Amino acid sequence: MGVTFDNLTKAEFIQRAKNMLDQCRKGYCVTPNAEIVYEAVRDADFRELLNGASLVLPDGAGVILGAKILGTPMKEKVAGIEFGEAICTLLSERKGRLYLLGSKPGVAELAGEKLSRKYPGLVVCGTADGYFKDEAAVIEKINAAEPDVVFVCLGAPKQEKFIKTHFDEIHAVLMIGLGGSLDGYAGMVQRAPQWMINLSLEWLYRLLKEPKRLGRMMRLPKFVLMCYKEKLRRKKNG
Ligand code: UDP
Repeated sequence: MGVTFDNLTKAEFIQRAKNMLDQCRKGYCVTPNAEIVYEAVRDADFRELLNGASLVLPDGAGVILGAKILGTPMKEKVAGIEFGEAICTLLSERKGRLYLLGSKPGVAELAGEKLSRKYPGLVVCGTADGYFKDEAAVIEKINAAEPDVVFVCLGAPKQEKFIKTHFDEIHAVLMIGLGGSLDGYAGMVQRAPQWMINLSLEWLYRLLKEPKRLGRMMRLPKFVLMCYKEKLRRKKNG
């Protein structure tokens, strides 16, 4: 439906990211879930931001289901939050520098402390919350910290717009849009238990924990319906 994903396993995504870091090949990565794809299908500018990324990860069971319905199945779901941790492992092996941008004041710092403890060798070179007014000041701070990687966690589509708008100004090899991941790394929100993740029920866990997400989550069944309609349309058109 116009949103193109990379059909790779988690290990393959990590290898691609490693290659980019090894070769200092600048790029950005996005991690759309079904709700985000639903928006992108209806918003050409946003779609372009997603499709322009070096790596587009299928973050969520909904995207995997949609791809299957459309007859272009993908290898596996790759959660952005897990990809972010894999990047921390890569950086820890090379004393790489990570900048954390996003979430409410104090959360990025806490996430930074926890990640540095978990991944010895990783240098969290700076943090900033995601409720800034002065973009130029934030960019200056990021560049002064000389990061290899920036986790941009402002929620979609704000983070993708930020990355694209400031892509040339920000001197990092990789910028990765990771939504609410800093809240997860900081321990502010818990991920679903493994059995729920295995049953593709992570969305249900999130909904039970944060019922105010219901409105947003209604995009999930709408997305599935949209995929079936598209499948039907293609069948009709031969
Ligand atoms: N956020 C932010 N600045 C904003 C709006 C949102 O830093 O102007 C943060 C918010 O605090 C949260 C994250 O962006 O940590 C969005 O999380 P959510 O789980 O909604 O993102 P998703 O991964 O679903 O896009």
